[in-house]
Amino acid sequence: MSQRRSGEEDRMQVTPDGTELWRLTLQYSPVGMTLVGLDGRLLMVNHALCEMLGYAAEELSQRGFQELTHPDDLDADLEQFERALSGEIDSYRLRKRYLHADGHEVWGDLSVALVRDPVGEPLHFVSQILDVSEQHEYEQRLRAANDELEHERQTLSAIFDTVNVGLLLIDRDGRYERMNRRHAETMRLPFPGGHAGEAGQVGHVYFPDGRLMSTEDMPSYRAAHGAEFDDYTYWVGDDAAARTAFSTSARQVRGPSGERIGAALAYQEITDLMRAMRVKDEFVSSVSHELRTPLTTVLGYLELLADRPDLPSDAAGQVRIAQRNALRLLALVSDVLDVARAEAGHLVLARMPTDLTTLVHEAVETSAPEAEHRGVSVRVDAPERLVAEVDESRLRQVVDNLVSNGVKYSERGDAVTVSLRAAPGAVEIEVSDTGIGIAPDEVAHVFDPFFRGGQVVASQISGTGLGLNIVQSIVVAHGGTITLDSEPSRGSTFRVTLPSG
Ligand code: ADP
Repeated sequence: MSQRRSGEEDRMQVTPDGTELWRLTLQYSPVGMTLVGLDGRLLMVNHALCEMLGYAAEELSQRGFQELTHPDDLDADLEQFERALSGEIDSYRLRKRYLHADGHEVWGDLSVALVRDPVGEPLHFVSQILDVSEQHEYEQRLRAANDELEHERQTLSAIFDTVNVGLLLIDRDGRYERMNRRHAETMRLPFPGGHAGEAGQVGHVYFPDGRLMSTEDMPSYRAAHGAEFDDYTYWVGDDAAARTAFSTSARQVRGPSGERIGAALAYQEITDLMRAMRVKDEFVSSVSHELRTPLTTVLGYLELLADRPDLPSDAAGQVRIAQRNALRLLALVSDVLDVARAEAGHLVLARMPTDLTTLVHEAVETSAPEAEHRGVSVRVDAPERLVAEVDESRLRQVVDNLVSNGVKYSERGDAVTVSLRAAPGAVEIEVSDTGIGIAPDEVAHVFDPFFRGGQVVASQISGTGLGLNIVQSIVVAHGGTITLDSEPSRGSTFRVTLPSG
């Protein structure tokens, strides 16, 4: 500030001639300027340089550039300085660090020229120093950010190629942009003749039921058309006996303003898992099958025994207990078999026109003894007759299960209502109870095999957790849906909707 004022005074007090004008120009140039003697001393300095290095002009002129230079950068400057003095070069440019009066570093962009007298003898140097500290800091930050990005890119790239999951990136139009090593390796199985790098190419890719996938079914095609999915399972390979199973997921990739710029797909090989599941299903279904035959024989003989008039009364009671438990065992084995069948997609329906009103009444009758025992009332709200094309015994299983659950998960005084009605193109069976209800976090799981509610387990109400899973499989096999509404302590409503046509 004080320097500026003295400058203004200069201007007012003198009428500058050419040399004076030149001196003032140097003095007020926004770029640091100095005349440097051949020994390195600063002979003349301007305001900008004083400000840049934090010294008054008199202090600076007593110093040599050597002591104002950061020690690490001095050699580079001295070397050029000597080269200029020896006549090798006339000028040089250098980015170097200066030391500010308070000790901090100042980055300067230095341009130096040697001034010679008319006979060519070196007189002094004229130097321009631009303060580039801010620019330097900005460049450093930029470099650090770039280094970090590069590091991240390399890490991601290493992960990309190391993971045991095939990864594919496609662009907006479904062209293959990048794939990792794992995916490139597995591409040979479905596409032995090569792949053109466009989503939807048909190859040896099969649905779990053995059908060949068409272009529209291919995961890459679906992803290229905006689909997102998980666990899309299929088999690949020409030889049906040696196929490999994959589970695929896809996510859309979006740009900064949400526009679709492509999709990412992950392919996980799950052959072993699929084989293990198949073995488990076959094991469960063959064991349950094998258990049923001897059990039916046991039940047959128990029935004969129970019919004997000469049976002592205590033995008759024991036979009844044995009968009851053998029946329970049979029901359990049948349930396990049903779950295995449904999971393997082997739930075969024998549809025929069936009066659902009769079916519902019969289910209620079956549950009557248990309902009475528990003090729960069961009523039916159904039209006179309602016929639909269903598998009668399977649908009976559905209604039996829902009604017996309604009774089982209610308390004395509660009520179960079975409503039957025709809806457009569909029939609806609703089983509603005023019982214990289901906790909100359990609602989503009641259809999972072997799931049993926490409260139910704590109260030791017997069951296997298979009933609702079988119910759901049967409903789905009919092309229908089942939904659940429930609130703890208020009760539950299961609604089955079946297509009527
Ligand atoms: P299980 O009755 O043998 O336990 P389910 O598959 O029929 O098996 O039912 C699974 C679980 O769902 C039950 O254990 C229970 O926690 C819950 N649940 C089913 N029906 C009802 C109902 N009507 N009211 C309350 N909870 C129910």
